[in-house]
Amino acid sequence: MEPVLLNDFRRIPPAIRRELTAATEEVVASGWFVLGKQVTAFERAWADYCATRHAIGVANGMDAIEIGVRTLNLPAGAEIITTPMTAFATVLGIIRAGATPVLADIDPTTGLLDPQSVERCISPRTRAVLLVHLYGQIRAVGAWEELCAHYGLTLLEDAAQAHGADSAGRRAGAIGKWAAYSFYPTKNLGCIGDGGALCTNDPDIAARSGQYRNYGQSERYHHPVIGLNSRLDEVQAAFLLRLLPHLPETTERRRAIASAYRRSIRSTKIELLAEPDGPGNHVYHLFVVRTRKRAALQAHLSVLGIQTLIHYPICIHHQPPTRNLRCDPEGLGHAELFAGECLSIPCHPYMIDSEVERVIAAMNSF
Ligand SMILES: *Cc1c(COP(=O)(O)O)cnc(C)c1O
Repeated sequence: MEPVLLNDFRRIPPAIRRELTAATEEVVASGWFVLGKQVTAFERAWADYCATRHAIGVANGMDAIEIGVRTLNLPAGAEIITTPMTAFATVLGIIRAGATPVLADIDPTTGLLDPQSVERCISPRTRAVLLVHLYGQIRAVGAWEELCAHYGLTLLEDAAQAHGADSAGRRAGAIGKWAAYSFYPTKNLGCIGDGGALCTNDPDIAARSGQYRNYGQSERYHHPVIGLNSRLDEVQAAFLLRLLPHLPETTERRRAIASAYRRSIRSTKIELLAEPDGPGNHVYHLFVVRTRKRAALQAHLSVLGIQTLIHYPICIHHQPPTRNLRCDPEGLGHAELFAGECLSIPCHPYMIDSEVERVIAAMNSF
């Protein structure tokens, strides 16, 4: 029997594949490969989809975070509070922008930042909180806005896993000062290579992001700031423009698989994460469960031909370069426990119903 994979891009439907080939031909025929019509058109389409005024295409999600932090013009020593349960790129983007990450603990029922732990991390140097919409969930936006307003902090969003998730109709980028998106192939909207974007309603941040991604250039040969080279290619933008119309249907498919899992997985040894607050709040980039018997569950699923991965097995504060970051004075115990128990099971839009059933049966026979 064919294995059930976490992602399977060979299953991109032939009609979409033909569109991607046509997109490549269009870019090659245009003779314009960097920062042209495709990027401009995708930026407009992506901003519209996110209901933000601006989207700026960049080379990848980590650069979107770096560029976003740079646009804030923070003083030396400024701290940004974020989570230890995330992709390493989240903290790398902060560090590369010259700011200092500080790690708060998570809510063990969701994997997301815990507001009380964030409060314990606030110092006179704290300037911002970077929420990570982990696995595709956006939660408790009102509480985060209140917390940030109360302490005079800027709310920021790492939305690399949350394309199309919303909170009362607001999508990432319209909630914080900006949101960083990644279009790495495995993301809910992914290109055929690397890509990213910064979404914001702030025209000044949009303009400055456009400079930072292009050597800090304001107009040709004028460089008011130290920038980087982080442009979205025309060919990737052309792919994204053709893939974007399919995002609502692939998101619905992810949600349908997730609700089948929620309905039918009932093993006393496996714990599901908390239900989302509302139907739009979760786009199921990943479907993650918790179990004290993770190695055994992984082995059991593997024998049955079901691939799993761990997001994430090692907390940020256990990685050598970030070992000494300041943390919640009460520790990061929930994140550490979570890292030892979380497991991602297949939940991609091209899974067929019989594969969803196979995963459920395998989980229940554990
Ligand atoms: C993928 C990801 C990133 C980094 O995006 P890249 O495009 O790979 O640089 C950042 N944060 C999170 C939460 C991610 O999942």
